[in-house]
Amino acid sequence: MARAARTAGGGDPSRQLYDRIGAFLFDQRLEPSPANYAFAWHLLHDPEGPLALAVEHLTEGGVRLTQRDIESLGCEPPTNAAKAKEKVDGLVAQTQMQVEGFQDMVQAMRAETEGFGRDLAASADAIRRSGAMSDGHVLQDVSRITAAMLERVHRAESQLESATREATELRSKLEEARDNARRDPLTELPNRRAFEEAYAAQIASGERLCIAVCDVDHFKSVNDRFGHAVGDRVLRTIARALSDSCAGHLVARYGGEEFAVLFSGVSIGRARDTLEHARATVASKRYRLRETDAPLGEITFSAGLTRVHPGEAVTASFQRADAFLYEAKEAGRNRVVLA
Ligand code: GH3
Ligand code: MG
Ligand code: MG
Repeated sequence: MARAARTAGGGDPSRQLYDRIGAFLFDQRLEPSPANYAFAWHLLHDPEGPLALAVEHLTEGGVRLTQRDIESLGCEPPTNAAKAKEKVDGLVAQTQMQVEGFQDMVQAMRAETEGFGRDLAASADAIRRSGAMSDGHVLQDVSRITAAMLERVHRAESQLESATREATELRSKLEEARDNARRDPLTELPNRRAFEEAYAAQIASGERLCIAVCDVDHFKSVNDRFGHAVGDRVLRTIARALSDSCAGHLVARYGGEEFAVLFSGVSIGRARDTLEHARATVASKRYRLRETDAPLGEITFSAGLTRVHPGEAVTASFQRADAFLYEAKEAGRNRVVLA
């Protein structure tokens, strides 16, 4: 995190946040424009969030953010996450209301049934006391009560039917929201959260696992030379190539221009061959600008690969793979390093 992000202000938390935003903008020599202010707010409001991590990475070694970095990073990660959470919260509230509605409906029906039961019992009593079934009043009563009861049953049936329809719709919306919270909208790959959940599940099952971290080489220069939209397109292409080559294994967009692969049920040798295939595919593609057909030049990625030990936490195995990724970068990029 940039130095200013960690500078503490006075005692009041709002005041502290405000001071840290000011200090951050000043430190980074950024205009206190509404857009920059909002950016700093998102960054400092969630110092461990994806935006803060991306900024920490960019500002390593005291590098200042440029206006372009801010535009390219945007405030999207927290905004998207917040939107997804809002949507899920809304659906949960709706579901809660629906469940309460069901409870009310069942309670009302029970009360009415009890009422009908009492009325019928009273009528049956009256029949017994009069000793004759021919008592016109009593029969009329019984028939009125029965008709009202049938009518009520029909109404309850249609209410239940529409409530069930609503519940089904809500369930599918909830499933969709759950899925959105675990999918990266740019590449449509599972995101870091989905990756970590799947990792935890696979570790628990005792499956043999290998983990790889792949990072696009000199990606900043793609953005700088051709713009962010072209960078996005390149990310989508790499995502597809990785998913295709690693079919049957979990490929996720872990963050920025970084992808993680969880290989399950294969040896590290097989995992390396698969990754090598993906690497060669990406490196041999001829990337061109859609508008002018001008070549983008070579696009490559580097990867670090390692075995996952039984029961190992994702942070530990990921860190090891990341260290091999660093070695791959140091050794000249466009390669896979493993151990
Ligand atoms: P290295 O080979 O050392 O990995 O160099 P690099 O330029 O790829 O690494 P660096 O971490 O300096 O830059 C990563 C860049 O990725 C910076 C950031 O703007 C860009 N980036 C991150 N996420 C996205 C995105 O969603 N879309 C686009 N277009 N760019 C992104
Ligand atoms: Mg990176
Ligand atoms: Mg990179």
